Formats: sequence, structure tokens, C-alpha cells
Amino acid sequence: MKSKTRLTGRVIFKGDPGYDTARKNWDPHTDRFPKVFVFAQRTQDVANAIKWARENNVPIRPRSGRHALETNLSQVNGGIVIDVSDMKKIRLNKKCGTVVVETGNRVGRIVHSLARQGYIAPFGDSPSVGIGGITPGGGIGPLQRTVGLICDNLIALEMVDAKGRVIRANKKKNADLLWATQGGGGGNFGVYTKYKLNVLRAPDQATVFRVTWPWEQFERIVKVWQRWAPSIDTRLGSELSVGPKKGGNVVMLGMFLGSKTEALRLLQPIISVGTTTSKVIKQLPYTEAVTFMLAPDPILPQKFSNQFSSGFGRKPFPDQAFKTMREFLEKAEANSPAGFFFLNWGGAISRVRPKDTAFYWRKAKFYVEWNSSWVNPSDAATNIALTRETRQKLLPYIVGSYINVPDQGIKNSGPVYYGKNYARLRKIKTKYDPKNVFNNPQSIPPL
Ligand SMILES: Cc1cc2nc3c(=O)[nH]c(=O)nc-3n(C[C@H](O)[C@H](O)[C@H](O)COP(=O)(O)OP(=O)(O)OC[C@H]3O[C@@H](n4cnc5c(N)ncnc54)[C@H](O)[C@@H]3O)c2cc1C
Repeated sequence: MKSKTRLTGRVIFKGDPGYDTARKNWDPHTDRFPKVFVFAQRTQDVANAIKWARENNVPIRPRSGRHALETNLSQVNGGIVIDVSDMKKIRLNKKCGTVVVETGNRVGRIVHSLARQGYIAPFGDSPSVGIGGITPGGGIGPLQRTVGLICDNLIALEMVDAKGRVIRANKKKNADLLWATQGGGGGNFGVYTKYKLNVLRAPDQATVFRVTWPWEQFERIVKVWQRWAPSIDTRLGSELSVGPKKGGNVVMLGMFLGSKTEALRLLQPIISVGTTTSKVIKQLPYTEAVTFMLAPDPILPQKFSNQFSSGFGRKPFPDQAFKTMREFLEKAEANSPAGFFFLNWGGAISRVRPKDTAFYWRKAKFYVEWNSSWVNPSDAATNIALTRETRQKLLPYIVGSYINVPDQGIKNSGPVYYGKNYARLRKIKTKYDPKNVFNNPQSIPPL
């Protein structure tokens, strides 16, 4: 290919050694055959890759932790993947209560590194998710009711734009880009290379819990959980998962930033429902508590492919929604990671107004996602359809959808992901990427 700019960094073209490893995302369903992977070692490598792509008319996909949950987001056939995962510096400034992380870090690396130094970094249910992708989409997890979403803690950033220019944004400079990066989703405006985040002092100890029930009791548990979890002390974050009928169970995992005695009192209304099959509730030093929550998960490759969909519940599910849930869980593939997942909302998330950041869906009671999984590619269509039909049936009981857990079956998805912030996001997109160089199937189009 003829071009003025040379690719720099660790460059792997199709056919080079390491190409097959480079194209393994977390979900095999999202693997593609790009023309080239550039593993940037520094911001300039990102800039060169963008310029090279523009000169050669090659589609671009930024990538960090490879955990994209839909197709053509962090890989595209014939394209260039600008992968920041070799850029992993973490710089904590204790005096200012901030940390600067390069966007190639995985969430777990940041969480453990900060915990060892006595600080909290928000996290979700997997240590291997990339900070590069999770932050601009929002970043939800069990600490969010105390510390807010990951994007709520974002105070500055560095990004390379469509012309290969390094742009810095904070509350004073390019504040619109900072706003858009707090919920607008990755892959829309440029390639992020650094995030500066606020951090809080961690408590010495925290209480973690994992409680399980038989699958057959899921309706009773979810009914009580949907009333209990959103209104409980905001220091308590709780995730509730319900697996497929064949081989699945009900699991509540969570963390309370307080003592075990207090946690037991708060948990009583939910753990007294039905008959629990296991119950682990322990007070641990904070460093061990985060290890309990972020159990190592397989980074790559995953056996199962998935179709996810997501939304936010403003009210507890009525009986009709439970009927839909049951139908889904009865049809989902046996002994697979398919299922429903709920996370309690409120606290710090709801204290931010919906228009203060691009992340709009702040007034909910809980977050909900469901996924159908398969191993054999010939089972993909049935499972994708099952997830999407379930979305149609649940629409009366949910609002919106979470851009980090996207579903490309959603038509006219802008207002669904971004509510009333969509119009402003389009204006900001037009300012920073008018030619729509950074695009994917549901990205924000310029005006
Ligand atoms: C096992 C698993 C657990 C998860 N748990 C949670 C959770 O608890 N909480 C939660 O909020 N989400 C969770 N997610 C969803 C996750 O937030 C999204 O999938 C997120 O987009 C992944 O980011 P990534 O960098 O790992 O993925 P990638 O595949 O690398 O990228 C995903 C998207 O972000 C863009 N992107 C990545 N890096 C950059 C960058 N440097 N600049 C610009 N755009 C970029 C990509 O272009 C793509 O559109 C989970 C996903 C998985 C697979």
C-alpha cells in the first residue's frame, strides 16, 4: 500500500505470525478478519495508524480489552484495529486523589493496583474488561451506588482524533468531549489513550456475599430483590443472576462497604426468602474483598458466543414480565452462561442529573440484561432471535438500553441508548468527527 505515513508500534498484518491470536476477542462471535492490527506502544503510534488508515481508505476500529458484546465494534473485516492494550501505565496521585491510566489497562489491574495503595476504583463483574471501552459507555458495577459510574469519575482524557491530532479534554478545555465520553460509548469520537479518574480512599475492610438458591425459586427471589435492592443502604451493591432452566441457579453476589454485622441485618429481607443452597458472607480486608468480587475470568478465548440485550427497570416486574423471563430461561441453551442479570441502581448514580453527562438512564430502580449463548455457529440465529424476541416482550416494562451491552437488533437505537442526550451527542460528533471516520453499526452519526 502506498502512503505517506508509516505504521508504527507492534504491527501485525494478515498472514503474519500472531495474527490469529490478535483476532481472538472475548466473544468468538465478534472475531473478524481485519487487514492489520496495530498494537500501539504510545500515543504517536495511534496517530500514525489513524493517518495511515485515512490515506489508504481503510476502516478503523479502536480496541482495548476485547470484550465487545456485539459484532463489528472492535474488529471489522479488511479494517485496521488500533489496539491500545500494550499501553498500561497507571499513575496514582495521592495528594490530588486522582489516577491517570492508559487505556490499555484491564479493569482488574487498576482495581487491584489501587486497592493495594488504599484506594477504590469502581469495577463491574469482570476483571478482564478493558478500561478503554467500559469508561466511555458508563461502567456499571456493585460500587456504583457509593462512587458513581466509572464515567462519573472521569475528569480528563487524551484522545487522538480523525486527523491524527492529540486532543485533551477536561472541565475547562473541550468540556463537550469530556461530557460525551461520560456515557456516549467507545468508538465514536476518536481513539482514547489516557483517562484521568477521581479516586476515593478505600475502607480497611468490606463485606462481600455470594448467596445461591435453586432455579425453581427464581420468581420469588427476583420479586423480593426488585423491591429490596434499590432501596437498601447505598453502600450495598447487589448483582442477581438467574441461569437457564437446565443447569442454572439463582446467584446473588455483592459487596457492602461496612461491617458483616450491619450487612447481615441489611441482607435479612432477601436471604430469608426461599431456601438458600449456599451462603457466603464475609468481612475481609478491602484488598481481599476485591479479589473475591473479581474472580479471574478467562480472558481469551471464550467457548461460548452470546447475544445480549439490556434495559433499565423503573418499577418491579409485573407477572407478565416474569412469564417472559421464564419462557426465555426455559428455551436458553442448557448449562450455558445464558440468563438474566440484575444490578441495583440509585445512590450516587441517581444524584447526577440525566443531562449532566451523556449517560442518561439515571432514574431507574435496577439495570437488567439477558443473554442467550451458544457454541455451535449453526445455533447462532435461534439464540439471537430468542434474545431479541424477549426484548420485544419486555419493552413495556423497561426503558432504554446500556450502550456497553448493546443489541444490534434495536432499530433507531440513538434515543434508546442515550435518551434526550442523543441530539447533543450528534452535535459533538459533528464537531470532533464530521466525516464519521469512527463508526460502527450503531455509532452516533454526525448531523
Ligand atoms: C465478561 C464481560 C463482563 C462485563 N461486565 C461488565 C460490567 O460489570 N460492567 C459494565 O459496565 N460493562 C461490562 N461489560 C461490558 C463492557 O463494558 C463492554 O463490552 C465494553 O465495551 C468492553 O470494553 P473493552 O475495551 O474490553 O472492549 P473492546 O472490544 O476492546 O471495545 C469495545 C468498544 O469500545 C471501543 N473502544 C475500546 N477501546 C477504545 C479506545 N481506546 N478508544 C475509543 N474506543 C474504544 C471499541 O471500538 C468498541 O466499540 C462486560 C463485558 C464482558 C464481555
